[in-house]
Amino acid sequence: MQKSVMFVTTCLALLMGVSARAATKNPTPANKYRYAAKKAAYYNKSTSAYYRSIWTSARNAWNKSKSFKWSPTKNRKSRTFTTSVSRTTGIWTNATGMAYNGMSFDQNGRQTGAAMYLNRAILKKYKYNKKQRTNVAIHEMGHALGLGHNSAGSVSVMNPANRDYALRNVDIKGAQKIYRTTTNTKSTLAAAAQPTLTVDHLKDYSNGIYGVEALRKDAGTIVEGTITKSVGHHKAPKNYYTTQTLRVIEHFKGLSGKTVTFTQGGTTAMAVTDSKVLHHGEDVVVMLAKNAQGNDYIINDGQGMFIDTHTSNGHELFEHVSDHKIYTEDMLH
Ligand SMILES: [Zn+2]
Repeated sequence: MQKSVMFVTTCLALLMGVSARAATKNPTPANKYRYAAKKAAYYNKSTSAYYRSIWTSARNAWNKSKSFKWSPTKNRKSRTFTTSVSRTTGIWTNATGMAYNGMSFDQNGRQTGAAMYLNRAILKKYKYNKKQRTNVAIHEMGHALGLGHNSAGSVSVMNPANRDYALRNVDIKGAQKIYRTTTNTKSTLAAAAQPTLTVDHLKDYSNGIYGVEALRKDAGTIVEGTITKSVGHHKAPKNYYTTQTLRVIEHFKGLSGKTVTFTQGGTTAMAVTDSKVLHHGEDVVVMLAKNAQGNDYIINDGQGMFIDTHTSNGHELFEHVSDHKIYTEDMLH
């Protein structure tokens, strides 16, 4: 009896292992930023010895791979820095970490500054151990040097909701690919690039219809409506979010008021990866959750927003902001 249970467990573990591996992109994709060469100096702003050591371990992991070299500097004015914050509101709600690409550029459009953040409040609340916090730090350094996310469920430090994976070969290969050339072939793109924040959440829902199903379950409120007011908070980068007011057309889940006010990541001056700032007059379906203060926010930013595309024959269609897939209204409630 015990043997057969063990056999089943082993098969399941194998199957899960295979499907997770199948979803891993090799190499890990790039974002649109890069430094001039495969090295950068950063100022470690953390005042806590614990978080200073976490950033040091993350640096050592990258340096050991030889794909990128991070060196600490005592120059407080360095445009590249690591730090830690403790926040539970606005864009930081359920964010474990964040990377701010494109704080500054050289004349060729190559990045000269990037900021890397860990959110102590959320890492503590969800009981990340030191190794897991280090994995998040390696992940933020990965964004800063030019890596994007690997797939949902991937075995990669750049898994969008990574907690358990350290630096993997796919990530090292991704970094090597970015810095294989010394000239920047994307200079025009980079020169036009807006600063971008990548917000890393506890959970990732970017898995097609299954992701939407999970969002529907986890969101306390789902409503359709028109944006009537959009207020950006321009206090970069600590508080970069927008407050939106929506006139409700239809209630699908929770909440019954005529209007709802909620926060989302990004402003007109700051893009958030996989998200898009909603504008006055736009018709949307939003999936909301409440933060510790009881205020509504878009669950995982772009993953909780669907914009009415008005392109159907009698059916309203909604574009998912984070992955641009189209859903009918029925699929969203
Ligand atoms: Zn990330």
